[in-house]
Order: sequence, then C-alpha cells, then structure tokens
Amino acid sequence: MPQSFDVIVLGAGMVGVSVAVHLQQRGRAVALLDRKPAGSETSMGNAGLIQREGVFPYAFPRDLGTLLRYATNTAPELRYHLLDLPALAPFLFRYWRNSAPARHRRIAGHYATLIEHCVAEHRELAAQAGALHLLRPAGWMRVYRSQRRLHAALQEAADWQRDFGVACEAFDAHALRRAQPALVGPLAGAVRYLDAVPCTDPQGLVQAYAGLFERLGGTVLQGDAATLREGWSVESAQGTLSAREVVVALGPWALPATRRLGLRLPLAVKRGYHMHYAAGDGPELSEPVLDAEVGYLLAPMRRGIRLTTGAELARLDAPPTPVQLGQVEPRARELLALGDRLDEQPWMGQRPCTPDMLPLLGPAPGQRGLWLAHGHAHHGFTLGPVSGRLLAEMICGQPTLLDPTPFAPARFA
Ligand SMILES: Cc1cc2nc3c(=O)[nH]c(=O)nc-3n(C[C@H](O)[C@H](O)[C@H](O)COP(=O)(O)OP(=O)(O)OC[C@H]3O[C@@H](n4cnc5c(N)ncnc54)[C@H](O)[C@@H]3O)c2cc1C
Repeated sequence: MPQSFDVIVLGAGMVGVSVAVHLQQRGRAVALLDRKPAGSETSMGNAGLIQREGVFPYAFPRDLGTLLRYATNTAPELRYHLLDLPALAPFLFRYWRNSAPARHRRIAGHYATLIEHCVAEHRELAAQAGALHLLRPAGWMRVYRSQRRLHAALQEAADWQRDFGVACEAFDAHALRRAQPALVGPLAGAVRYLDAVPCTDPQGLVQAYAGLFERLGGTVLQGDAATLREGWSVESAQGTLSAREVVVALGPWALPATRRLGLRLPLAVKRGYHMHYAAGDGPELSEPVLDAEVGYLLAPMRRGIRLTTGAELARLDAPPTPVQLGQVEPRARELLALGDRLDEQPWMGQRPCTPDMLPLLGPAPGQRGLWLAHGHAHHGFTLGPVSGRLLAEMICGQPTLLDPTPFAPARFA
C-alpha cells in the first residue's frame, strides 16, 4: 500500500521547503521529497542575500557597448559556452525582448509585489525555526570604482526609493572608508541597501526551515522525482507515496521534470560559482559587498569569506568551467585582504530562469493536481518564503497575500 499524503512537494531547496512548511501549517499532510538532504544544491551555495532592493529582476543588456563586450566572451560578469548558444538562442531572444525598458518596468511592477514581502516572510519563518541568529543586521552594498558608474547607481537608487520604497544610503570614497574599513582598494563610493538582510549560512537556514516542517508533523523523504507518475505517485527510499496534489519545486531540474510531464516551458539556467577564503590581515568585512563594475560579490559567511561569481550560460548538464572565478579573484584581492582558498574545488550552482524574469507559481496548465514553484533565477533564496506562502494559499483555496496572476504558469501555455 502506498503511503498517502495530501500533497507531495518535489525538491527541498529554499522554495520547496518553504512551500512544504506553509502547506503543513495550513493543516495539509505533506511529504517533502529530495534525492539529497535539504538545501544541498542552489540554495546552499548562493550569496545569501535576502534582497529587499531586488525589485528589478536582472535584465539582458540592451546597449551595444555591453553586448559587444559580452560577444568577446571575456567579461567576468557574463560568460557563455559557445556550443550551447544555438540551443539557448530562443530563450535568450525572449529574455532580450522582455528586457526592453518599458517591458522591464512592467515586469518589475509585478516582481515588486513579491519582493516587498521577502524580509517579513523570512523573519517569520526564521523566528519559528529558531534560526534568527543566521541573519545578519540588515544592509549590504554595491561599490563602484568610477564616478560615472557611481553617479548612475545613485540615480537608480533614488528611483527605486521613490517608486518601490527601497531604502538606501549613499557613500562617497571618504565616507565609504569609514563605513567599511575592510575595503582597501581605490573606490569612488557605494550604495548600501538598508532593508535587505544577509544570511551567514544559506544551507543552514534551509535546513532550519526543514526542521520546522518536521516539527509541524511534515515528512521528509529521499527519492527521485523522475519516478513521478500521473495520479500522483512517486517512489521514495521508504516505498511508494501517493497524493492528490504534487508541487514541482525542483529549481533548475524543473526543466527535465516538466518536460517529462509533457509541459513545454521556456526554462534555462544561469550558472554561478563560489569559493571561500580565509580572512586576511586587517579589519573584518562586516557586510556583503558587490564589486559592481567587475561583477562578483564578497559575503562574510560562517565558513569564511564567500566569493560568488556572475552568470555563465550553458546547458543544464554541461561540466563546470569556473573561468570567471579565476578572472575575478585577483580583482577581489585589490579590494579586500583575502587569505587562502578554503575549498578544494569551486562550487557550482544553476539559477533557474524564465525569459520574462518572473517565477512560475500556480497550477500547471492542463494537469489536474500539478502545481509549479520554480524559475526564481537570481532571487530564489530571497523569495522562497513568499512564494511558499502564496502557493500554499492557492492550493488551500485561501485569500492570497498578493495577486498571483502575473506568475501563472499558463502564461507560457
Ligand atoms: C552564485 C549564485 C549566487 C546567488 N545568490 C543569491 C542571493 O544572494 N540571493 C538570492 O535570493 N538568490 C541567489 N541565488 C539564486 C538562488 O540560489 C536560487 O534562485 C535558489 O536557490 C533556487 O532555489 P530552489 O529551491 O528553486 O532550487 P534548489 O535549491 O536547487 O533546489 C532544488 C532541489 O531539487 C532537488 N532535485 C533535483 N532533481 C531531483 C530529482 N530528480 N529528484 C529529487 N530531488 C531532486 C535538488 O537536490 C535540490 O535540493 C544565487 C545563485 C547562484 C548560483
């Protein structure tokens, strides 16, 4: 006899775990299935930022100068596997079109309705999970090497503050040296986002939320989502599970999973790498810092200083090519006293992307009892708890925190 649940959630990253917690809190009997322990993939190795300022999802560049620079395939912030470009071209074309200023602004209007809740929803779950100690005091900064780019960033920050309530603080070179004495390189200034919250152990936070799920009576099981059968049933290490409803929260692996289910969704991945470093001599870095003109981020974490890279376009199963890490490490050493590398190999993760930069949240078109919760790209760690709540409210037929229509998977049907 299969073990029977109300809902099976496939994938125990930040998104799947958050969906599972919110469903369990609403009285559903939930099984959370993953082939690995909770938070072992993309939700582990990210930069750990809960990005309250992230109201504009990352757009594809439109200006000729940047496009020509990217065409050389030497820019540290964006790289691509040449042989994978033909397969990625339809996705990239739609992404590029949606990045036109007017469309991007419309998309940001929808995205902001999710982003505005990210810190409150994380704090709520972290408090219940006893994990508030994994969240640093609010604030992280983008630093700029040139006056020209700093000036543009200050203008953008003022627009975000006016239109979306994104609180920020500006620093010139002098004020930056006082505010963040760990930064030693030649910098023009910075913008600090005052309401965004850094996490010092992203996997630890996902695991704390998974622990909360189990304390609420939820069941965590190991198994392969590829064994999913319509109806719905799936094989786990503890036998067959069945449920009326199933949620695909498989992050980048939603692409093969939804294909197997006959859905043709325009998904792709942007890969990223990280490496930890021992702290060098000098003052401690007390908040994450993005070197915005080079394209990497330094975040003080439990394990050391985590350097995360920009984006790499390749197919899902392509082998790792951590070229960008080698490019940016010397640039990072210009800004901060970094000690030795602490990891044997660079870590690689894959940001699960849609061409309109909005996640997929809601019922799958034409498949009764199938729900989707993926495609959070650069902000899945930020948005997991908001998306989890929204999807649980939809599944349970409750009033929703915000209008889910812009995120409906049916937009791609
Ligand atoms: C370098 C980098 C930096 C980033 N920085 C940030 C940041 O600062 N802030 C932010 O908000 N976001 C950031 N992101 C993005 C963020 O990490 C992702 O959007 C987010 O982790 C996606 O979460 P997820 O739960 O959808 O996917 P995942 O965390 O990948 O979870 C998917 C789960 O599915 C499981 N799975 C896959 N296939 C199967 C199968 N066949 N059977 C069973 N289980 C399966 C996996 O084991 C995994 O646990 C960053 C990403 C990268 C790469």
